Amino acid sequence: MRLCVIGVGYVGLVTGACLADLGNSVICVDVDKKKIQNLNKNILPIYEPGLEELVKRNKTRLKFTINLKEGIQKSDIIFIAVGTPPKENGEADLTYVKDAAKSIGKYINGYKIIVDKSTVPVGMGDLVESIIEDTSKAKKKFDVVSCPEFLREGSALHDFMNPDRIVIGAKNKIAANKVAEIFKPLNTKVIITDLRSAEMIKYASNSFLATKISFINEIANICEKVGADVETVAMGMGLDKRIGRLFLNAGAGFGGSCFPKDVSALINIALSEDYDPILLKAVMEINKIQKKSIITKIKKMLGTVEGRSIGILGIAFKPETDDIREAVSLDVMNALLEKGCRIKAYDPAAIENAKKMIKGVKYVKNAYEVAENAECLVVLTEWNEFKELDLKKIKSLMKSPNIVDGRNIYDPDLVKKLGFNYTGVGRS
Ligand code: NAD
Repeated sequence: MRLCVIGVGYVGLVTGACLADLGNSVICVDVDKKKIQNLNKNILPIYEPGLEELVKRNKTRLKFTINLKEGIQKSDIIFIAVGTPPKENGEADLTYVKDAAKSIGKYINGYKIIVDKSTVPVGMGDLVESIIEDTSKAKKKFDVVSCPEFLREGSALHDFMNPDRIVIGAKNKIAANKVAEIFKPLNTKVIITDLRSAEMIKYASNSFLATKISFINEIANICEKVGADVETVAMGMGLDKRIGRLFLNAGAGFGGSCFPKDVSALINIALSEDYDPILLKAVMEINKIQKKSIITKIKKMLGTVEGRSIGILGIAFKPETDDIREAVSLDVMNALLEKGCRIKAYDPAAIENAKKMIKGVKYVKNAYEVAENAECLVVLTEWNEFKELDLKKIKSLMKSPNIVDGRNIYDPDLVKKLGFNYTGVGRS
């Protein structure tokens, strides 16, 4: 099939490359000239395991361009995968989706199916339809389909190629089936529904996962008070099939470009319909408390935080990505900088992005450099390489052997035996 993907970010690039790998011809279009120039030189704008090889392997079926007209006119099915970042009030900013819809209206030259992969508020499919209708002079026929994306950064290729389900929402069942055909090689469950339910499935799914995280974080905080261990509690809970172990990892809170944004957007959607979403508001509130609790833990360990030398292990919002949007590390580092701390930080993939966001931090090349003369090490991303560190060496490099483990990656007994003062999350 001849496909176009508008927006070549974390979702758009993975979608384009995977769809090409499934045998389609894909034109990937972005307004960011530099990004497209780099992609045409095989320089990827993001770090995602396996993506570089996949793009290279499908070079003959993948085209990168800034030419929206070409992308739209040469394709039968157009995917919108532009960003929907949060506005200050938590609402989703729909400017980029609206712009993409206007371009489609402007250049449409025959029947097209427009597939929305961006996460958008319920009703956006109808809005995209009316924008295309209003901007299109030729009054060509088209259908709008919602097909929300559920991939996770860090395992995006695997997730795209092995989805738990494909959700397709549309008014026209023929268009829905045509989109379903694209995903047929993935051999997975396809749910065909109406536009609004498909849009809601995405928000409800992310909000549920965020709720699970805030739930276990609240349990962790209670565990600390009553002398229980949240890791054991989560294991005991997770063995119950009705609950499941996934997303029951207590820690410093959730970040990233999706959970905080999507829960906030759903809260706004509910409020705008005169419904008070008390559970979702609590999910966000607990997350705020959780991020702040890292500073409290450092204070408890050192007595005072002001002016201390702190080592940060992990900046990305999760392992295996360079994405730092809404990362917990940003809040923690900013709070420490405000208290006059000297901070050294290391992340296997996210340093270049962090340098653009936070000044005043010394970014170093590995965890051992972070440890040198640090009074406290703070783990904020559970990268595997941090689990494998030579902790004896780390201890010998530190000014004082303190660890605040914001992701519970270490065995408390083991690190305490090595002579560290250790605080995890929910581990009494
Ligand atoms: P991103 O910011 O990484 O990429 C968006 C891209 O769109 C950018 O390259 C930008 O230049 C481009 N763009 C903006 N306006 C454009 C236009 N008019 N024409 C062409 N290109 C344009 O965003 P992302 O993380 O890939 O997210 C995209 C959407 O997918 C969001 O709605 C997000 O919520 C959703 N989503 C993201 C993830 C994830 O893990 N990142 C997972 C599932 C769903």
